[in-house]
Amino acid sequence: MFEVRLGARPPEDLAVAVPQDRLRRLLDEVAPRMRDGLQGHSVVNINSTATGGGVAEMLQVLLPFTRGAGVDTRWLVVDADADFFALTKRLHHRMHGSAGDGGPLGPSEREHYEQVLHENSEQLAATVAPGDVVIIHDPQPAGLAAAVKSWGIPVVWRCHVGVEEQNEHTKGAWDFMRPYLEPYVDAYVFTRSEYAPDWVPKDRLFVIKPSIDPLAPKNQPMDAQTVVGTLGHVGIIDAPPSEPMMFARSDGSPGRIRHFADVIRTGPAPGIDSPLVAQISRWDPLKDMLGVMHGFVEHVLDGTDAHLVLAGPVVSAVADDPEAAEVLEQVFAAWRQLRHTARSRVQLVCLPLTDVEENAAIVNALQRHASVVVQKSLAEGFGLTVTEAMYKSAPIVASAVGGIVDQITDGVNGRLVADPTDLAEFGAAVSGLLEDPAAARELGRAAHERAVADFLPDTSLELWQEVLISAMGRA
Ligand code: UDP
Repeated sequence: MFEVRLGARPPEDLAVAVPQDRLRRLLDEVAPRMRDGLQGHSVVNINSTATGGGVAEMLQVLLPFTRGAGVDTRWLVVDADADFFALTKRLHHRMHGSAGDGGPLGPSEREHYEQVLHENSEQLAATVAPGDVVIIHDPQPAGLAAAVKSWGIPVVWRCHVGVEEQNEHTKGAWDFMRPYLEPYVDAYVFTRSEYAPDWVPKDRLFVIKPSIDPLAPKNQPMDAQTVVGTLGHVGIIDAPPSEPMMFARSDGSPGRIRHFADVIRTGPAPGIDSPLVAQISRWDPLKDMLGVMHGFVEHVLDGTDAHLVLAGPVVSAVADDPEAAEVLEQVFAAWRQLRHTARSRVQLVCLPLTDVEENAAIVNALQRHASVVVQKSLAEGFGLTVTEAMYKSAPIVASAVGGIVDQITDGVNGRLVADPTDLAEFGAAVSGLLEDPAAARELGRAAHERAVADFLPDTSLELWQEVLISAMGRA
């Protein structure tokens, strides 16, 4: 097990985005309640990776603020071998309702899972003390709950995955997980209440939506010149060269857009005034980049002058994810088959990942510049890209799947496509927004309001305070 070094950020920094009355509540009520409850003890988070993935991103956002609020917050990462991670990836897929690698979840898997976590628990024992609270994230470290509880320490389990519809796969995963959780967990936190299995007691069930960091390079304010300059620099639009494009790094130091994107395109880049429709996602089959392309070409292209940008991270940077290269290859092959005029209005973009904060700043610029941001996922626990675009007042078209239906109210703060495979419905929603900029602006305005109301860190921190107090009370 190793500990991730965490900085502290004063919650006052949130004043740029969080309304004054909420900030006061955070500073004067929520933070003191957390500090009083813990009385100098620690909140110890345990997950399975320090970088990459939504969980690490979420911890990076929230934990520095709790430290800044005077709560000793720590983050430990379990140490495990490849067999362990193959097993937990299997569990992860099954909890999403799919077969994953189709492998077993039998006695020998249990034995290995328990043995790895037993070794981790020996290190953990030396790191935590009575009075602390432990928050275990996701299935990988879940088997530590018994040991933690046996030391008299309250246990919270935060599950970031799930589907509404249970099936044989989810049942298999939950049968495996249940004995490690049910006897020991004082509070469960899910992204949607529907994701919790029915044996989770209602009085121990909490729902917290992921929040975004309004100050991070991904979401920080960006003036119009920097938006187009950044996209011009990386090669997505045709913007005249200007001075260096800068952003603020999370530690406050200046960052500069240096790298270029890998862009697959025919002909010149779209001009500054060409409307862009953009989806920014990992190259994952469930994000349906291919469907976005066909929906755009068949139902948007001819009636508008918009260009489509399908952007994801460079696939070489995710060498451990062979699926990404495969998906990009498929989209590229389909793009090559498009008629010439269509090809010249669709670009495939791989964003550089040499510097993750630079990558984030490019995503920021693209979400701000796009006339319509789309997220045509076939499944989605909770779409961070949706919240990010909402916060930036972007008009959004997204599939009505998973957590997205909690984020967007159709026709109020975005457009939902009821059937994510219906390309005509998707295309009509996108065209509708391109043709009616005033309506699109209104949706974008309402989207920003919703993001501010529900998806900023102070909201999550207040809910976390309730979870911690409840877990301590129960224990
Ligand atoms: N993202 C990014 N760079 C990219 C593509 C995606 O930073 O090139 C980010 C995106 O902005 C979002 C996250 O990856 O913060 C994806 O989270 P989401 O919940 O949308 O989907 P997930 O990848 O977790 O399934």
